Amino acid sequence: MKAVEGTVYKSTGSWYTVKTDTGTLISCRIKGKFRTDQISSTNPVAVGDRVTISIDENPEEGVIHHIHDRKNYIVRKSVNLSKQIHILAANIDIAFLLITLNNPVTYPAFIDRFLATAKAFGIEVVLLFNKEDSYTSQELTELRQLKAVYVDIGYHCEEISALKGTNVDQVQTLMASKVCMLSGHSGVGKSTLVNTLAPMLNIKTKAISDQHQQGQHTTTHAELHELDFGAKIIDTPGIRGFGMIAFSSQELGDYFVEFFDRKSQCKFNDCLHIDEPKCAVKLAVASGDIATSRYKSYTQILAGEDQQYRTYF
Ligand code: GDP
Ligand code: ZN
Repeated sequence: MKAVEGTVYKSTGSWYTVKTDTGTLISCRIKGKFRTDQISSTNPVAVGDRVTISIDENPEEGVIHHIHDRKNYIVRKSVNLSKQIHILAANIDIAFLLITLNNPVTYPAFIDRFLATAKAFGIEVVLLFNKEDSYTSQELTELRQLKAVYVDIGYHCEEISALKGTNVDQVQTLMASKVCMLSGHSGVGKSTLVNTLAPMLNIKTKAISDQHQQGQHTTTHAELHELDFGAKIIDTPGIRGFGMIAFSSQELGDYFVEFFDRKSQCKFNDCLHIDEPKCAVKLAVASGDIATSRYKSYTQILAGEDQQYRTYF
């Protein structure tokens, strides 16, 4: 028996495809009970998990014995009413949020909730302003104003055209050797971007799933696709974003980076930046150092009034 380490690329319920660190795909089952992260999830092993497996006589089959600590994970609440969650994917290095000015409209409130959620999960985000080929000069000005809000607070932003390939090489550089997630509303261009990045992906995908011919059913399980420049893209059919998380009032401000930076200058250390006197965040909004759209998103999320912006697909 041989113990090797690898990453879970696919799960079909009872079988998992693990790619070992030496590059071999192995079909694995799990053995024993797993307790991970003290959470109650419907799936013990998720795509992106780092695992230790053992291989017996048959070199194509293995058993998952150990799941390494997760650096982060994204969840979907299970459909049943239990408190259980379903882990969609683990160990995400970077999320790319595709944004369009129109067709469809991406509202700041949606972007800001996404950024706050990613911060809470410890996931880096790059903002991709897509369809730059389709805007009028007035729209481009508007787009750049929106983009400036995020550049100013330190987010990496790119104007791209997934369709024409403009600046897609920059995206490729940012993705290289990372586990990546593509998010954004339906119609923003996620599939188009994947197509431009990896025209051959369908063939590759097939090669992976062929290993599980018998287990093929139309699942909503996530899968990792490896692109030829070394990036791995998480494919979560039907779900292109995080599960909704409920922020506590106290923590929300910490996930707005420019609010967090100023928090220590607020008079009260538990300042919610709403009615408190000598609030450094409100002063910064008044002086124009914090964008009013960011402050508006913050107050909307705090009041639970941003439901309409919560759909990701
Ligand atoms: P998804 O739902 O996010 O996967 O979006 P799709 O990739 O299916 O794209 C939705 C529509 O937007 C399609 O008609 C694409 O051709 C179009 N589209 C995607 N990217 C671009 C782009 O960069 N420029 C233009 N003009 N259209 C784009
Ligand atoms: Zn404050």
